[in-house]
Amino acid sequence: MAKELDLDWANLKFGYLPTDYNVRCYFRDGKWGEIEVSSSDTINMHMAATCLHYGQEAFEGLKAYRCKDGHIRVFRPEENAARLQSTCRGILMPELPTEKFVEMVKKVVLLNERFVPPYESGATLYVRPLLIGTSAQVGVHPATEYLFIIFVTPVGPYFKGGFATNNYVIARDHDRSAPLGTGIYKVGGNYAASLQANKWAHDQGYACEFYLDAKEKKYIDECGAANFFGIKNNTYVTPLSTSILPSITNKSLMQLAEDLGMKVERRQIPEEELETFEEAGACGTAAVISPIGEIDDPVMNKKYVIAKDGKPGPISEKLYKKLKAIQYGEEPDTHNWITIVK
Ligand SMILES: *Cc1c(COP(=O)(O)O)cnc(C)c1O
Repeated sequence: MAKELDLDWANLKFGYLPTDYNVRCYFRDGKWGEIEVSSSDTINMHMAATCLHYGQEAFEGLKAYRCKDGHIRVFRPEENAARLQSTCRGILMPELPTEKFVEMVKKVVLLNERFVPPYESGATLYVRPLLIGTSAQVGVHPATEYLFIIFVTPVGPYFKGGFATNNYVIARDHDRSAPLGTGIYKVGGNYAASLQANKWAHDQGYACEFYLDAKEKKYIDECGAANFFGIKNNTYVTPLSTSILPSITNKSLMQLAEDLGMKVERRQIPEEELETFEEAGACGTAAVISPIGEIDDPVMNKKYVIAKDGKPGPISEKLYKKLKAIQYGEEPDTHNWITIVK
């Protein structure tokens, strides 16, 4: 029987805390092998592995929730599997079957059950799948061998002082991804491309950098590493772009907005339209919704104040609460989004 843990759950950061196990699966000789369990948090790899030189790396992110009813739930893992498969097609890696992905998610959560934070803490278990090309080569070609790993680590609640707004700054001097590039795939390279802008934003006291489309610098793209949505006239508006990562949270919020009788629009959003939104938010697994207070465009000497009173809007809050309630099994799972691990 594993030892009970006594961690300060509510004050955990979004860091890395070692857990008991991770799960691994190797792709060799053209096929995926058996699922392996490891208690080591390092990997032994050839120095000429393609992931180290040419960025053959993909990742995913989801969470496991310990719920009031005692169950442990994960949210739409099949969607993460499908997105990883899309990333694999994008950077020429072998696709991992959905069943294997979901089985490994369940397995790694169960193996580390004592690290799933208690319900009351608001903390969660972050689940991080990654896939890397491991075979040795110096020429630029896809690898012939791959390693898929899922590790988990407990993370603290995103909103420590309650649901609150954040401010963003438009990074006109940086692009995260190109219109026909890898922005639609969850690869590490996009994050490397964002580090400068991210630091630039943080150094000025903003929560995060905000991207316009790389080609015209006219339309809203992404809100750091989160999708953007705006709300006005009972309509949920989110960008249609070939350079943003298709967020599962955003996809779910679009569905919930529709369920609430709102209109949903996916289209290009010109920067100036920011003036017209009653509410706006950044969305992703980490926060679900991070409401936007203000977006500044210092190069153009413009400021878009969205939350006039500095507080999150009522529709954002409603969507946030609704999605959280589904994730925690407190509202009916009418769209079949939940996998019960235990
Ligand atoms: C992971 C990610 C998101 C959020 O996706 P979710 O599936 O909602 O967690 C948004 N943008 C980028 C660039 C991402 O990497």
